[in-house]
Amino acid sequence: MSEEHVIIIGNGISGITVARHIRKLSDKKITVISNESNYFFSRTALMYIYMGHMKFENTKPYEDWFWEKNNIELKLGSVQSVDALSKTVCLGNDESISYDKLIIASGSKPIKIGWPGQDLIGVQGFYHLEDLHALEKNAPDNIKCKRAVIVGGGLIGIELAEMLQSRHIPVTLLVRENSFWNTTLTDGESAMLNRHITAQGIDLRLGVSLKEIHGDNLGNVKSVTILETKEEIQCNLVALTIGVTPNVDFLADSTIAINRGVLTNRYFETSVKDIYAIGDCAEQQLPIENRNTIEATWYTGRIMGQTLANTICGNKTEYNPGHWFNSAKFMDIEYQTYGIVNVQPAENHSHFYWKHDDDTMSLTFEYNKNSGEFQGINSLGIRLRHEVIDRWLNEKRDLEYVLHHLNKANFDAEFSRKYEKEIFNLYKSKVEL
Ligand SMILES: Cc1cc2nc3c(=O)[nH]c(=O)nc-3n(C[C@H](O)[C@H](O)[C@H](O)COP(=O)(O)OP(=O)(O)OC[C@H]3O[C@@H](n4cnc5c(N)ncnc54)[C@H](O)[C@@H]3O)c2cc1C
Repeated sequence: MSEEHVIIIGNGISGITVARHIRKLSDKKITVISNESNYFFSRTALMYIYMGHMKFENTKPYEDWFWEKNNIELKLGSVQSVDALSKTVCLGNDESISYDKLIIASGSKPIKIGWPGQDLIGVQGFYHLEDLHALEKNAPDNIKCKRAVIVGGGLIGIELAEMLQSRHIPVTLLVRENSFWNTTLTDGESAMLNRHITAQGIDLRLGVSLKEIHGDNLGNVKSVTILETKEEIQCNLVALTIGVTPNVDFLADSTIAINRGVLTNRYFETSVKDIYAIGDCAEQQLPIENRNTIEATWYTGRIMGQTLANTICGNKTEYNPGHWFNSAKFMDIEYQTYGIVNVQPAENHSHFYWKHDDDTMSLTFEYNKNSGEFQGINSLGIRLRHEVIDRWLNEKRDLEYVLHHLNKANFDAEFSRKYEKEIFNLYKSKVEL
């Protein structure tokens, strides 16, 4: 009997991880289809190509021969539709391929909300490889691009600001909220980032939104107007980075149940037998504890891929992502978050916040006011050891224990020597008040 054919739509971290793990566990025929690139590359490293720190070749974690050697077929093509009845995927060139099992790992796409002028030349998002190429064209230097306006105060917007600044292109960043990323960060953290971003020379505008993008008579962007102030800002690039949404339009005519993303249970099974979805495009039907139903991060994409490979290979395995983790960078300030840290502490929880005098480092701990149990931590400007924080969360340590042993979680011995006592004493002084 010939081996089952598994087709994977998408060669991002989720699709590639599931492919590699299925190969480790079985001889199944595996085809990975991507409309973006021949080979898997690290999306999170795209910024470094523009900044000149890396070449595209360096963003590929595997050598090109790896795939043939491991008998994983890579196919460049765009899946236009899925016919669940005949178990085929249809590609643009009228080609159809049959599958026994189909894994949808089609990722995200930037949100566009229909602004006037959003299709002008020089207006773009930043997600796919083609967006990097567009950026090279739209903003090669500060002669062609005299100012860039970035719309949206999220992780991708701030990366773009750093990228453009590396080529000395002045940047205006429009943020709808009154403080940078205050939908996720606490007030103190968000305020520290406002100061940091401004100090880096970014023209940060808070509490404003884009009204309209204007073009010249050649169809190139020339300015934007701000809704609240009516101000017109001259610019040659408008980057729309207000967020991403699951990339699932091509599934509209399939019978697969979709809400915002492809709906799945905890085994990543969709509403249709033998079709699964993972990564940014997947949406859990029921939230897992306090997590979002769509998790658009690199780290969770990898866990989902690894988990689903077990199920595909006969060992049905539930998604159990463990404690929430994410990391990012805001210009020079690294950010990590572990476990639960709400913008405002949850009921019965409290925050303990420490910030360095130099305004580049802070720690926010969330803990249970009654039991003292440590719930999670946000760090800015300080890199923590994942395995140690994870262990403390598993062991349900109390905050005092965590503060006492902070040096075990810190990569920077110098930091530990200098500040951990100060942090602990600050906590004690607050508790004793
Ligand atoms: C600039 C940037 C920086 C980021 N930084 C971080 C970070 O620091 N930390 C973090 O956790 N996350 C970060 N992310 C998010 C992270 O990259 C995503 O969560 C992750 O890449 C999602 O992986 P995925 O495999 O689910 O989807 P994707 O990486 O989006 O891959 C999906 C692939 O499927 C292809 N595809 C889609 N539809 C079709 C179709 N119909 N036919 C064929 N192919 C199709 C797409 O073109 C794409 O190649 C960042 C994202 C960006 C854009």
